[in-house]
Formats: sequence, C-alpha cells, structure tokens
Amino acid sequence: MSSAREVAAATAEALERTTAAGLNATLHWSRELLDREAQHADQVRRDGGTGSTLYGYAVAVKDNIVTTEQPTTCASRILEGYVSPYNATVVDRLRAAGAMIACKTNLDEFAMGSSTEHSAFGRVKHPLDPARVPGGSSGGSAALVAAGAVRAALGSETGGSVRQPASFCGIVGVKPSYGRVSRYGLVAFGSSLDAVAIFGATVDDAARVLNAISGHDPLDSTSVAAPPMGRPDSWDDLSGIRVGLPREYFPADLDPGVRAGVERGVAALRDLGAEIVEVSLPHTKYAVPAYYIVAPAEASSNLARYDGVRYGVRRDGDGDVRALYQATRGRGFGAEVRRRILVGTYALSAGYYDAYYLKAQQARALIAEDFRRVFDAGIDLLFTPTTPTPAFRAGEKTDDPVQMYLADIFVCPANLAGLPAVSIPVGRSEGLPIGAQIITPYFRDSRMLSVATLLERALEPTEEVR
Ligand code: GLN
Repeated sequence: MSSAREVAAATAEALERTTAAGLNATLHWSRELLDREAQHADQVRRDGGTGSTLYGYAVAVKDNIVTTEQPTTCASRILEGYVSPYNATVVDRLRAAGAMIACKTNLDEFAMGSSTEHSAFGRVKHPLDPARVPGGSSGGSAALVAAGAVRAALGSETGGSVRQPASFCGIVGVKPSYGRVSRYGLVAFGSSLDAVAIFGATVDDAARVLNAISGHDPLDSTSVAAPPMGRPDSWDDLSGIRVGLPREYFPADLDPGVRAGVERGVAALRDLGAEIVEVSLPHTKYAVPAYYIVAPAEASSNLARYDGVRYGVRRDGDGDVRALYQATRGRGFGAEVRRRILVGTYALSAGYYDAYYLKAQQARALIAEDFRRVFDAGIDLLFTPTTPTPAFRAGEKTDDPVQMYLADIFVCPANLAGLPAVSIPVGRSEGLPIGAQIITPYFRDSRMLSVATLLERALEPTEEVR
C-alpha cells in the first residue's frame, strides 16, 4: 500500500494535470494542505483511529460541504471567501478513518442544476470530451474521479446530483437512504430530499467511504439512529433475487445507446441467476413536476439566510435594510438560483399553496407508494437507465430550463421517496459512458451494493454496447 505522503503527492500532480487541461473541476486545493492531510492520516494510523479503513484515500469534497481548512462557496458569489467555523460531520468522519481531504470541487450554484454550467466560477468540462458537460450538480467531484485524480469523492443529492454525473462520466455514484448519512454541514437546499452521496472509481471505493461516513449523528435531527453501514457481503450469484424493470423508465424515445447499455446489464443480471420481471410505477410521470415544486419551495426558505448580514458577501445598496437585501441577493445569486427562489416562494404563497405545494406533496406520496407496492409484492430491486441520454453538449440546455430539468427524470423519484440508489457504468455508446441504476427498499443500501459489485464484475465498463 502506498503511504499517505505518496498518495498526497500523486494527488497534487493529478490535480495540477486536470487544472492544466482546463477541466475546472476544483474550486480550492493546495499542495501544502494535502501534505498536512497526509501527516494527519499517518497520525490516525499510528493511533489506531476508527480502523484507518480509508488510509491512502484522498477524497475530493463538493464545495457545499463545509470545511474549516478551506473555503466553502457553493459556487456562488454570495459566499465568496466564506470559511466555516466547523467541519461537516462527513468531513470529520472521513479524516477519522484516515482519509485525506484532497480539494473542494466545483458545482452548480447551491447544487441547482444538472450540468455544472450554473457555477458562478465557470463550467466543468467532461473529462472525455471537453465540449460536453460532466452532468451535475456534483460535476467537479465526478470529473475528478473519472479523470483518475482521486478514487472517491463526496457530492450531494437533492434530485440525482451524484447518480446523473456518475452516469455521464462512467463511474459509480451512490445515493444512500435518506437519514443514513448526517447532513450536518451540508449546505441545505431541499432539506427533506438532501443527502450526502458518494462517487467511487469502483463500487468498493464508494462502499468503503459510505461505511466510514454513515451512522447516527446527534447533530442532525433527521439522521436515523442506526449504526454505520457495514461493508457489503460478497455474493456468488443472484439466484432467488427478483429484479423489476419499471415500464415507465423505458420510453419509446429512450436514447438507443442507453437502451443497449441497460439491456446489457439486464442480460448480465439474468446470467447471474436473477429473475427479471416487468413492473409498473404509474406515477413516475409526476416525479419531475413534483420535484421541481418541492425542491424550490424548500430552497426558497433555506436560502433566506443569505441576507448580507449573517454570511459572506454584503452589498449595502441605497438606503434601508430592504435595499441591503436586494443589492446583496440580487447580485450575489445567479439566474438559476433566483429562478428557484421565485418559483418556490410562489408555490408556497397563501394563494397558491394548495394548487402547487400541496399537490406536489400528494404526488410525492403516490410516487413513494408506487415503490412500496412493487417491493411488497416481492421485487428485491429495480433496474433502470440512470439518464435518458449520454452526456449532452455544453450550452445545449442552458436556454431551456425545462429541458435541463428533464435530465433528472429517472433519478429524482428515489430522492422523493428517500430510497437508496446507485448508478454503475454498463458500457459506452459512441465513446460516451452509459449508466444503469439499481434502486432498493429503504435502508437496504448494503444489499444494493452487493448486487452492484456482482454486476460490476460481469461488465467491462468501456466496451461499446452497440
Ligand atoms: N438537477 C436537480 C436540480 O437541479 C438536482 C440537484 C441536486 O440533486 N442537487 O435541482
């Protein structure tokens, strides 16, 4: 095993390489900080730590997860230069397990987006094709794992922001069950949906990180009182496992490369002994509209704290406190964040609450009920495409927010229902990675990763599928 010092040096070189290549995946890092992290990792190992299970890992961290040693900007002008007085629980737990924090990564401003084009600090490029997007909102973390700079990275999911970029970049993306991992120190976007989520070069890399960061945290009232997720059992095959293919996730206009990739995954599941059954989740069509009411509604409330008084940047404006708010928020937030605040405030307003917010919550309950019904009927897991298309071109969807929102169609249902889900690479189409998704019942994260490991072993991720 390489020493922490060696990994730190190799990581610094790799980050320099990705910077020189213009990936724009990092917002902050330094060689000196990496060296200090290596010393800390060695100290943890000498002390025995919590088993030093992540010794030798440099982990990139999305810049909406707070750190005391580096700024946290959420890729927003409004938080430019902000440094948190405390670490997120996940950051403390990574370090306690012997990992090094490699850098802070670029994202869509406040994690609102599906392409990392909505960063105030410039877009992130896809590591395989600079004209394309890496997905989003955790695009910086995804690009660094895909470029081989780090083996694992933290992102966050409110509506698919780790699985979608994992799929675009050809890596593993795990969204744990809601409440499995502490949100303390994850900057709030949609609190009933938010989760810290993980990118790995392999399923094992992601599983190790999840093992280290999961488990109850008294500092997060929505954290479930359960021990950390154990390392997934290693399975020989899938005999006795029933896999559901939800009809609604295979529309007629699904990209042919995506379809071929997922079919390759289905064939592998069958070869491993699984029984394949077609199922229906009839309310899937309401997932995107429900998500794009609930998430902005919660965001409009959560983002009220950036007022020019309590955090970051302040612009006084011309006159009273209202002018201060207007100047600070008007200039500090980018267009997409302002759009979300407007939509969310509207949906929550007295006159429209019943028509929008309440309706969206009802649709959300029906979506969760769809999942419950198929799992209660004996389906162990669902297998679906992660995204309707491979990575799209930069600029393709920035003028049409609804088209951008539709990129989340297969990923946001699991967030609305709080379920664990993972995206794994299943092949390539015209050189671009294709991802497939496994969704399991609540808190079956470990089983889900056992299945993902078997599938990963059965498939060559860089093979062309058509
Ligand atoms: N693309 C979704 C959005 O823009 C998801 C974001 C996320 O998961 N953080 O809201």
